[in-house]
Amino acid sequence: MHEKDCIFCKIVAGELPSAKVYEDDHVLAFMDIGQVTKGHTLIIPKTHTKNIYETPPEVAQEVFARVPRIANAIKEAFQPAGLNVLSNTEAVAGQTVFHLHVHLIPRYGKNDGFHATFEQHDNIASEHLGELAEKISSKIQ
Ligand code: AMP
Ligand code: ZN
Repeated sequence: MHEKDCIFCKIVAGELPSAKVYEDDHVLAFMDIGQVTKGHTLIIPKTHTKNIYETPPEVAQEVFARVPRIANAIKEAFQPAGLNVLSNTEAVAGQTVFHLHVHLIPRYGKNDGFHATFEQHDNIASEHLGELAEKISSKIQ
């Protein structure tokens, strides 16, 4: 299923160009046009799904199953020291294209342009973790 105004659906359909890394019946991987670091690659499902929240397990399986192979190809190609894998979900988390995509961002050092810093807050005491876990687990469908 393709969404009319979705740029990644247009890439899948060949209506917009992309620098392809990998393609099969279910997924496409291509270079991110805004390279955070050298080799920054996106993996997307060919069917339109907005983000992780709305992705059926079989689509997630296709996309995430390709991550290790493509990550290792990037590793072989550019010898980064590591890699960040992320999928920004909703605008507040930095999602700008609303077609599921997984970023593979090779890492070359602390000052390579990718800022993966986050602060761990100590305002939730560890004795409450069980309570939080229960709230989530009771919602798993
Ligand atoms: P996000 O901000 O997580 O939604 O990521 C969207 C990513 O898509 C950004 O890193 C953009 O640089 C990238 N992007 C947008 N348009 C294109 C395009 N036509 N080809 C390749 N990458 C794109
Ligand atoms: Zn789409």
